Amino acid sequence: MIVRAGVFYDGSLDTPGRNVDLVIEGTNVTAIRAASGDADVTVACVTPGLVNAHVHLEMSGEADSMGAMALSTQNQRLLRAVENARNSLHAGVTTVRDVGCSGAIAQDVRDAIVAGRIPGPRMRAAGAVLCMTGGHGWFLGREIDGPWDARKAVREQMRAGADCIKMIATGGVLTRGAVPGNAQLTPVELEAGIVEAHRHGLRVASHAIGTLGIKNALRAGVDSIEHGHMLDDEALDLLKSTGAYLVPTLTAPTCILEHLEDGTQPQFVLDKARVVNESMLVSIRRAFEAGVKIAGGSDAGTPFNFHDNYAYEVELMHSLLGMTSQQALHAATAVAAELIDLHRGTLAAGEPADLLLLDADIATDLATLRAPRGVIKAGERVR
Ligand SMILES: [Zn+2]
Repeated sequence: MIVRAGVFYDGSLDTPGRNVDLVIEGTNVTAIRAASGDADVTVACVTPGLVNAHVHLEMSGEADSMGAMALSTQNQRLLRAVENARNSLHAGVTTVRDVGCSGAIAQDVRDAIVAGRIPGPRMRAAGAVLCMTGGHGWFLGREIDGPWDARKAVREQMRAGADCIKMIATGGVLTRGAVPGNAQLTPVELEAGIVEAHRHGLRVASHAIGTLGIKNALRAGVDSIEHGHMLDDEALDLLKSTGAYLVPTLTAPTCILEHLEDGTQPQFVLDKARVVNESMLVSIRRAFEAGVKIAGGSDAGTPFNFHDNYAYEVELMHSLLGMTSQQALHAATAVAAELIDLHRGTLAAGEPADLLLLDADIATDLATLRAPRGVIKAGERVR
């Protein structure tokens, strides 16, 4: 298949190509060259498929996430995860990392996608989050107390097929009683879990909103800070010196606050989202300006944050952080892919043929990402 692009973004920060042919054979791109001869498809713009480094497939953007978890069965949540995997893919998200599910839903969905039984993106799955007893996410997580329990919980996730690990370093917005600014898992618990995961080649993501928890996780050797909404100078320095990624999930508080007046969300969620949002805007912008590695991830599944709306996170990185459209695309493709570590997230000879066919150049019309004309995953047109 030959795809001809008026403008071509390969996912890097290099100058975009003009009038380019992508040659796809089987599941991979085999050549990228100047347009000539016949093409099978001609579109205004081509980008790599989007990579969402922070999703929860079994959550569907319900207004009351905790209530929805409490009132649903495991089977119902599995069905939602299947539906959300398909919706992500059709919206142009060709790779995701699920950073917290109940049971082993995300691993099961990942395996069904790999086996070709259901449509969906390429996936990594953390399994259940590791949190302190009663801490953020306890209702779907594995509660741990003490370093050996942390190691055991990592081993349990591995046994259940997890290929990355998620640890909860601070409180969070959606759990009643968990204060986002407060540290939760202790430094020894974080370090024990991270050392154990790294010993087996698994990367560790840490949910961390408050400043102390962010630093605890970074000093313990974590690979990515999820949210990172309360950064001070020292936390920024640690992000830089450790080389950890920051996954800002700008969509999550933004969507909660866009629906402030609905009367559908618990009051404690609104109150916490307001506080987090204020520091988020300053913190993440400073991180970007300081050159921290920012990987795209939206926390899809949280209130009104739908799996087919990852393009919104790209738009927010552009509008709130001051990234150019190409920088935002880079964060949501190559950088996120580097963190997930399944492929490079760029379009080049030898790379997987995961790409979007778009009606306009993202430099002048970033919203074109919301409705791709076509989505190709592994050389196959899935939409
Ligand atoms: Zn999350």
